[in-house]
Amino acid sequence: MPPSVQVACASCKKTKRVPFEPWTFTAETARPLLSCEACGAQMEGRSAAFDAEHRLVACAACGSPEIYKRKSFPKWAGIGVVALAAIATLVLAGVESVPRWAIYVPLFLAAAIDGVLFVTTPDAAGCYRCGTVHRGYRWARDLAPFDLEHAEALKRSKPVESAPRAKPRV
Ligand SMILES: [Zn+2]
Ligand SMILES: [Zn+2]
Repeated sequence: MPPSVQVACASCKKTKRVPFEPWTFTAETARPLLSCEACGAQMEGRSAAFDAEHRLVACAACGSPEIYKRKSFPKWAGIGVVALAAIATLVLAGVESVPRWAIYVPLFLAAAIDGVLFVTTPDAAGCYRCGTVHRGYRWARDLAPFDLEHAEALKRSKPVESAPRAKPRV
């Protein structure tokens, strides 16, 4: 799979995975574009988000250097497995011929599947500012895992491009 960014489209708001390799764009083909598969809108990607060795240094969609490490598989996949297991457990609990110990087997299986997913899927890089997820890139630096406190602090400090300034008291 080519490296991709999962970005929320500015015009249709759908979140799509878009292959993005800005280093394949030359001066002639002009700006590296992210094309939305849903509505065809084109957003400008940030080639400056990568260093000379094509390693990710910042968000490819908004250019923010505030990026974190996350798991590549979508959260709903992990939750979905557990939800299915919970349903299976409820169904089994309603069947009299099923021995009591067997009722919880689906839950153990779900935990095992989630564990395997967690260990085997590669890390992705998420953006604190715009939520874009970057998959399949090498990183210029080690990224810290998602930090809720940091995310909240960033949300309070609005401007993305400008230098940080003193926050007005609310
Ligand atoms: Zn779109
Ligand atoms: Zn971003």
